[in-house]
Amino acid sequence: MVVTIGIPLDENSSYLRGPAAAPERIRQAFHSDSSNYWTEESINLERHPKVIDDGDLSLPAMPLAFQAITSAVGNRVQQGHKVISLGGDHSITYPIIRGFAPHYHKLTILHLDAHGDLYDSFDENRYSHACPFARIMESGLASRLIQVGVRTYNGHQREQVKRFGVECIEMKDWNDDLRFVIDGPVYLSLDLDVMDPAFVPGVSHHEPGGFSTRQVLNLIQKLDCHLVGADIVELNPTRDVHGMTAMAAAKCYKELLARLLMS
Ligand code: MN
Ligand code: MN
Repeated sequence: MVVTIGIPLDENSSYLRGPAAAPERIRQAFHSDSSNYWTEESINLERHPKVIDDGDLSLPAMPLAFQAITSAVGNRVQQGHKVISLGGDHSITYPIIRGFAPHYHKLTILHLDAHGDLYDSFDENRYSHACPFARIMESGLASRLIQVGVRTYNGHQREQVKRFGVECIEMKDWNDDLRFVIDGPVYLSLDLDVMDPAFVPGVSHHEPGGFSTRQVLNLIQKLDCHLVGADIVELNPTRDVHGMTAMAAAKCYKELLARLLMS
Protein backbone atom coordinates (compact mmCIF):
# COMPACT_ATOMS: atom_id res chain seq x y z
CA MET A 1 0.00 0.00 0.00
CA VAL A 2 0.92 3.64 -0.42
CA VAL A 3 -0.09 5.49 2.73
CA THR A 4 -0.51 9.26 3.01
CA ILE A 5 -0.08 11.00 6.34
CA GLY A 6 -0.49 14.71 7.02
CA ILE A 7 2.08 16.27 9.36
CA PRO A 8 0.75 19.66 10.50
CA LEU A 9 3.93 21.02 12.11
CA ASP A 10 5.45 24.46 11.50
CA GLU A 11 7.08 25.13 14.87
CA ASN A 12 10.55 24.94 13.34
CA SER A 13 10.00 27.50 10.59
CA SER A 14 12.59 30.27 10.80
CA TYR A 15 10.80 33.08 8.96
CA LEU A 16 7.01 32.60 8.80
CA ARG A 17 4.51 30.18 10.26
CA GLY A 18 1.74 28.71 8.12
CA PRO A 19 2.68 25.27 6.75
CA ALA A 20 0.82 23.52 9.60
CA ALA A 21 -2.37 24.27 7.67
CA ALA A 22 -0.99 22.82 4.43
CA PRO A 23 -1.99 19.11 4.56
CA GLU A 24 -5.69 20.00 4.56
CA ARG A 25 -5.23 22.45 1.67
CA ILE A 26 -3.39 19.88 -0.42
CA ARG A 27 -6.18 17.35 0.18
CA GLN A 28 -8.83 19.93 -0.78
CA ALA A 29 -6.97 20.64 -4.01
CA PHE A 30 -6.53 16.91 -4.68
CA HIS A 31 -10.28 16.35 -4.29
CA SER A 32 -11.31 19.56 -6.07
CA ASP A 33 -14.04 19.27 -8.67
CA SER A 34 -11.97 21.54 -10.89
CA SER A 35 -9.87 18.54 -11.94
CA ASN A 36 -10.08 14.73 -11.87
CA TYR A 37 -8.25 11.86 -10.20
CA TRP A 38 -6.33 10.58 -13.21
CA THR A 39 -2.55 10.87 -13.35
CA GLU A 40 -0.98 11.90 -16.62
CA GLU A 41 0.13 8.32 -17.22
CA SER A 42 -3.45 7.05 -16.79
CA ILE A 43 -3.76 5.78 -13.25
CA ASN A 44 -7.13 6.58 -11.70
CA LEU A 45 -6.48 7.50 -8.06
CA GLU A 46 -10.14 7.76 -7.07
CA ARG A 47 -10.68 5.05 -4.44
CA HIS A 48 -7.56 3.29 -5.71
CA PRO A 49 -7.30 -0.05 -3.85
CA LYS A 50 -3.60 0.45 -3.06
CA VAL A 51 -3.77 4.06 -1.85
CA ILE A 52 -4.83 5.00 1.68
CA ASP A 53 -5.06 8.41 3.36
CA ASP A 54 -4.56 8.07 7.10
CA GLY A 55 -5.35 11.74 7.79
CA ASP A 56 -3.27 14.10 9.90
CA LEU A 57 -1.13 13.11 12.84
CA SER A 58 -2.17 14.66 16.13
CA LEU A 59 1.10 16.07 17.39
CA PRO A 60 2.41 17.12 20.81
CA ALA A 61 4.74 20.12 21.05
CA MET A 62 8.44 19.85 20.22
CA PRO A 63 10.56 17.87 20.90
CA LEU A 64 7.93 15.14 21.40
CA ALA A 65 6.45 15.95 17.98
CA PHE A 66 9.54 14.46 16.29
CA GLN A 67 9.22 11.20 18.22
CA ALA A 68 5.54 10.97 17.25
CA ILE A 69 6.43 11.47 13.57
CA THR A 70 9.20 8.87 13.66
CA SER A 71 6.99 6.25 15.26
CA ALA A 72 3.99 6.95 12.97
CA VAL A 73 6.17 6.64 9.86
CA GLY A 74 8.25 3.76 11.20
CA ASN A 75 5.18 1.68 12.07
CA ARG A 76 3.81 2.00 8.56
CA VAL A 77 7.14 1.27 6.88
CA GLN A 78 7.56 -1.78 9.10
CA GLN A 79 4.19 -3.05 7.84
CA GLY A 80 5.62 -2.92 4.32
CA HIS A 81 3.90 0.26 3.23
CA LYS A 82 5.32 3.15 1.26
CA VAL A 83 4.65 6.46 3.00
CA ILE A 84 4.07 9.88 1.46
CA SER A 85 3.92 12.73 3.97
CA LEU A 86 2.26 16.09 3.44
CA GLY A 87 3.97 18.79 5.54
CA GLY A 88 4.45 20.88 7.47
CA ASP A 89 7.74 22.70 7.24
CA HIS A 90 10.91 20.91 6.12
CA SER A 91 12.05 20.08 9.66
CA ILE A 92 9.76 17.02 9.48
CA THR A 93 12.02 15.20 7.02
CA TYR A 94 14.56 14.37 9.75
CA PRO A 95 12.09 12.47 11.98
CA ILE A 96 10.49 10.91 8.88
CA ILE A 97 13.84 9.54 7.71
CA ARG A 98 14.50 8.25 11.22
CA GLY A 99 11.36 6.18 10.68
CA PHE A 100 12.57 4.87 7.30
CA ALA A 101 16.26 4.28 7.97
CA PRO A 102 16.04 1.14 10.16
CA HIS A 103 14.12 -0.60 7.36
CA TYR A 104 16.21 0.52 4.39
CA HIS A 105 19.96 0.13 4.11
CA LYS A 106 21.73 2.31 1.60
CA LEU A 107 18.90 4.80 1.32
CA THR A 108 19.38 7.57 -1.24
CA ILE A 109 17.59 10.86 -0.63
CA LEU A 110 16.72 12.95 -3.65
CA HIS A 111 16.12 16.43 -2.24
CA LEU A 112 14.47 19.12 -4.39
CA ASP A 113 14.76 22.57 -2.84
CA ALA A 114 15.84 26.16 -3.44
CA HIS A 115 17.80 25.75 -0.19
CA GLY A 116 20.35 23.21 1.04
CA ASP A 117 18.82 22.97 4.54
CA LEU A 118 22.26 21.91 5.77
CA TYR A 119 22.86 24.42 8.58
CA ASP A 120 24.44 22.93 11.68
CA SER A 121 22.11 25.22 13.62
CA PHE A 122 19.82 28.11 12.68
CA ASP A 123 18.50 30.75 15.10
CA GLU A 124 19.82 28.49 17.86
CA ASN A 125 17.53 25.66 16.75
CA ARG A 126 19.27 22.49 15.58
CA TYR A 127 15.88 21.14 14.47
CA SER A 128 15.05 24.19 12.35
CA HIS A 129 13.66 23.67 8.86
CA ALA A 130 17.07 24.99 7.74
CA CYS A 131 18.87 21.99 9.34
CA PRO A 132 17.20 18.61 8.58
CA PHE A 133 19.78 17.33 6.12
CA ALA A 134 22.66 18.10 8.49
CA ARG A 135 20.93 15.99 11.15
CA ILE A 136 20.22 13.17 8.67
CA MET A 137 23.76 13.01 7.32
CA GLU A 138 25.60 13.31 10.66
CA SER A 139 23.42 10.46 11.98
CA GLY A 140 24.30 8.25 9.00
CA LEU A 141 20.63 7.77 8.08
CA ALA A 142 21.23 8.01 4.31
CA SER A 143 24.08 6.72 2.21
CA ARG A 144 23.61 9.33 -0.52
CA LEU A 145 22.08 12.79 -0.53
CA ILE A 146 21.46 14.33 -3.94
CA GLN A 147 20.31 17.96 -3.86
CA VAL A 148 18.62 19.41 -6.92
CA GLY A 149 17.63 22.99 -7.66
CA VAL A 150 19.48 24.77 -4.84
CA ARG A 151 20.27 28.43 -5.54
CA THR A 152 21.18 29.79 -2.08
CA TYR A 153 24.33 27.97 -0.87
CA ASN A 154 26.50 30.18 1.33
CA GLY A 155 29.98 29.53 2.69
CA HIS A 156 28.84 27.47 5.68
CA GLN A 157 26.53 25.33 3.59
CA ARG A 158 29.23 24.67 0.98
CA GLU A 159 31.43 23.43 3.82
CA GLN A 160 28.61 21.16 4.95
CA VAL A 161 28.24 19.87 1.37
CA LYS A 162 31.93 18.83 1.44
CA ARG A 163 31.75 17.45 4.97
CA PHE A 164 28.82 15.17 4.16
CA GLY A 165 29.73 14.37 0.54
CA VAL A 166 26.47 15.81 -0.74
CA GLU A 167 25.97 15.49 -4.51
CA CYS A 168 24.67 18.77 -5.92
CA ILE A 169 22.92 19.66 -9.13
CA GLU A 170 22.49 23.35 -8.53
CA MET A 171 19.71 25.21 -10.30
CA LYS A 172 22.23 27.13 -12.40
CA ASP A 173 23.61 23.84 -13.74
CA TRP A 174 20.26 22.14 -14.46
CA ASN A 175 19.66 20.63 -17.87
CA ASP A 176 16.30 19.16 -18.89
CA ASP A 177 17.98 16.07 -20.34
CA LEU A 178 19.20 14.96 -16.89
CA ARG A 179 17.56 11.78 -15.63
CA PHE A 180 17.93 10.08 -12.28
CA VAL A 181 18.94 6.44 -12.55
CA ILE A 182 19.66 5.40 -8.96
CA ASP A 183 20.39 1.98 -7.43
CA GLY A 184 18.79 0.98 -4.16
CA PRO A 185 15.83 2.49 -2.32
CA VAL A 186 15.14 6.17 -2.96
CA TYR A 187 13.26 8.72 -0.85
CA LEU A 188 12.18 11.96 -2.55
CA SER A 189 11.81 15.14 -0.49
CA LEU A 190 10.03 17.92 -2.36
CA ASP A 191 10.27 21.42 -0.91
CA LEU A 192 7.81 23.33 -3.07
CA ASP A 193 10.08 26.38 -3.14
CA VAL A 194 12.33 24.51 -5.57
CA MET A 195 9.84 25.87 -8.09
CA ASP A 196 9.90 29.49 -9.11
CA PRO A 197 7.71 31.72 -6.92
CA ALA A 198 5.86 32.65 -10.12
CA PHE A 199 4.42 29.12 -10.05
CA VAL A 200 4.18 28.65 -6.28
CA PRO A 201 3.63 31.97 -4.49
CA GLY A 202 2.33 30.14 -1.41
CA VAL A 203 5.68 29.36 0.17
CA SER A 204 7.49 31.15 3.00
CA HIS A 205 10.74 31.81 1.13
CA HIS A 206 10.39 33.31 -2.35
CA GLU A 207 13.62 32.46 -4.16
CA PRO A 208 13.46 33.51 -7.82
CA GLY A 209 14.98 31.54 -10.65
CA GLY A 210 13.51 28.11 -9.97
CA PHE A 211 11.88 25.24 -11.81
CA SER A 212 8.56 25.41 -13.57
CA THR A 213 5.82 23.09 -12.34
CA ARG A 214 6.22 21.17 -15.61
CA GLN A 215 9.93 20.58 -15.03
CA VAL A 216 9.30 19.09 -11.59
CA LEU A 217 6.51 16.87 -12.93
CA ASN A 218 8.82 15.63 -15.70
CA LEU A 219 11.59 14.97 -13.20
CA ILE A 220 9.18 12.85 -11.12
CA GLN A 221 7.78 10.99 -14.13
CA LYS A 222 11.24 10.15 -15.49
CA LEU A 223 12.65 8.78 -12.22
CA ASP A 224 14.26 5.42 -12.89
CA CYS A 225 14.59 3.99 -9.40
CA HIS A 226 12.89 2.11 -6.56
CA LEU A 227 10.96 4.93 -4.88
CA VAL A 228 9.97 3.95 -1.33
CA GLY A 229 8.71 7.21 0.14
CA ALA A 230 8.29 10.93 -0.36
CA ASP A 231 7.27 14.18 1.26
CA ILE A 232 5.84 17.46 0.01
CA VAL A 233 6.69 20.33 2.35
CA GLU A 234 6.64 24.08 2.84
CA LEU A 235 3.26 25.01 1.38
CA ASN A 236 2.29 28.16 3.27
CA PRO A 237 -1.44 28.77 2.67
CA THR A 238 -1.28 32.24 4.26
CA ARG A 239 0.75 33.40 1.23
CA ASP A 240 -1.10 31.45 -1.44
CA VAL A 241 -2.98 33.14 -4.30
CA HIS A 242 -6.34 31.54 -5.21
CA GLY A 243 -5.03 28.21 -3.93
CA MET A 244 -2.71 27.86 -6.93
CA THR A 245 0.23 26.61 -4.87
CA ALA A 246 -2.00 24.03 -3.17
CA MET A 247 -3.08 22.92 -6.65
CA ALA A 248 0.56 22.63 -7.80
CA ALA A 249 1.30 20.60 -4.65
CA ALA A 250 -1.69 18.34 -5.33
CA LYS A 251 -0.52 17.82 -8.91
CA CYS A 252 2.95 16.77 -7.68
CA TYR A 253 1.25 14.56 -5.07
CA LYS A 254 -0.71 12.75 -7.80
CA GLU A 255 2.34 12.10 -9.93
CA LEU A 256 4.35 11.00 -6.88
CA LEU A 257 1.56 8.57 -5.93
CA ALA A 258 1.81 7.16 -9.47
CA ARG A 259 5.60 6.73 -9.14
CA LEU A 260 5.24 5.08 -5.74
CA LEU A 261 2.61 2.69 -7.13
CA MET A 262 4.71 1.79 -10.16
CA SER A 263 8.24 1.51 -8.77
MN1 MN B 1 13.62 23.00 2.50
MN1 MN C 1 13.34 25.68 0.60
